[in-house]
Amino acid sequence: MSYRSTCHCGTISATVSGDLPAEAMTCNCSICRRKGTVLHFVSSDEAALDAPTDKLGDYTFNKDAIHHHFCMVCGCTPFATGTDPQGNEMVAVNLRCVPECDLDQLKLTTVDGASF
Ligand SMILES: [Zn+2]
Repeated sequence: MSYRSTCHCGTISATVSGDLPAEAMTCNCSICRRKGTVLHFVSSDEAALDAPTDKLGDYTFNKDAIHHHFCMVCGCTPFATGTDPQGNEMVAVNLRCVPECDLDQLKLTTVDGASF
């Protein structure tokens, strides 16, 4: 089974192998609080990105460790990419962009990203 996190217009997406997660995280850092993302992290081999480079916005800040991607057509944020502290390539899937995900059923963990 797999699920897809897509922007509103469908230009960029991440197809993630596996079942929809039951848990996710929200974060109070300066960008997550503005975007309202609900994130689930997977390794980059579990997520196939479909993202034409001329339509894929890329915003970084602070240590530039995370690429906060967005669709340059519709502005939505279906995923971000980066490396974890061990150097593994990760994809942060925004579950708000997965239409079949029941957001009200997710067990949410809050991360104090503002203090990092
Ligand atoms: Zn779009």
